[in-house]
Amino acid sequence: MIDTTNLYDLTHEELVDLLAAWGEPRYRADQLWQWLYQHKATDFASMHTLPAALRDSLAAETRIGGAEVVRKLSSADGETRKYLLQLADGQMIETVLMQYSGVRRTACISTQAGCAMGCVFCATGQMGFARHLTAGEIIEQAVHVARILETEGERLSNVVLMGMGEPFHNYDPTLEAIRRLIDPATMGIGQRHVTVSTIGLVPAIRRFAQEGLQVRLAISLHAATDEERSALLPVNRRYPLDELLAAVRDYIDQTGRRVTFEWALIEGENDSAEEAHRLGKLLKGLLCHLNVIPLNPTGGYRGRPSKPARVDRFVQTVKSYGIPTTVRVRRGIDIHAGCGQLKAAVIEDGG
Ligand code: SAH
Ligand code: SF4
Repeated sequence: MIDTTNLYDLTHEELVDLLAAWGEPRYRADQLWQWLYQHKATDFASMHTLPAALRDSLAAETRIGGAEVVRKLSSADGETRKYLLQLADGQMIETVLMQYSGVRRTACISTQAGCAMGCVFCATGQMGFARHLTAGEIIEQAVHVARILETEGERLSNVVLMGMGEPFHNYDPTLEAIRRLIDPATMGIGQRHVTVSTIGLVPAIRRFAQEGLQVRLAISLHAATDEERSALLPVNRRYPLDELLAAVRDYIDQTGRRVTFEWALIEGENDSAEEAHRLGKLLKGLLCHLNVIPLNPTGGYRGRPSKPARVDRFVQTVKSYGIPTTVRVRRGIDIHAGCGQLKAAVIEDGG
């Protein structure tokens, strides 16, 4: 299986070339693309618009995806499902399906196996970096979730690139996956329903501003001084706050798009009134939105989530600077739905 071509790893042009080498016209590649991304076929036999001989060649030389579900967990309320996927080389990644709002069905997908950024409170950061995912491995997670939803009469409406890994550390495959997500002839997800979250890799944010996309950009901020931010997110030493905010300002100027900042509230660490005032001053006047989420506790970090009263005080203080702020409820805690936490739990049980 390893030596066959994973069709999700091919761009549309590469698929055209592959079939052209077998003497097939371009429209056959278009048909196969539809089977892969619109019908989300799991076998070649069902691809009835393709000639039998082509289906045989495809079955012999290619495969539809390379990820296998090795563990599936559902939260007690049934609103969050988490899949641990094993890739062709044995690496494991996580994909989450969230369906707690009325119409929104959101996939949270990974861009790397592990992560090199080493954020101290993050389960993925605590694992270290294994490797980048290919564009195919990234998009396949969305196809997997969409396929499950479709068997239930639902439709995948939103995708967040907030699973394991730092999307902008794996820039080109991530961009290729985003383009396939939003292409009407591929996954057809609305651009504004796709969110990419970064720890703040400044050159990549500047590059992303030039892509001409309307997908949402989220920045993981978590602290309002360089000293504190560097202690939580080591990458801040390379790209400190003033450089990060300058890049975000330029991004907003160039795209006219609102940016989301993410803030995990950690008791006694970044939840004081003074910190909220500093944050308010930092973001005042910026076209942005702040998402606050009480920390998800992880095995490798002693910090605890802020208590509701401190969350409220923090939010009210930041709001007094005119910054639209939302508190996100922690979802799927019972299934380790936080970033990287299922894989960490599976490694701990030795399973
Ligand atoms: N690497 C990217 C995207 C993946 S992490 C990034 O860091 O932005 C998605 C979000 O989850 C980020 O905002 C990250 O800071 C946050 N996060 C990671 N671990 C967390 C934890 N234990 N509790 C709460 N949020 C966490
Ligand atoms: Fe990587 Fe994001 Fe986790 Fe930091 S928070 S270690 S960048 S996945």
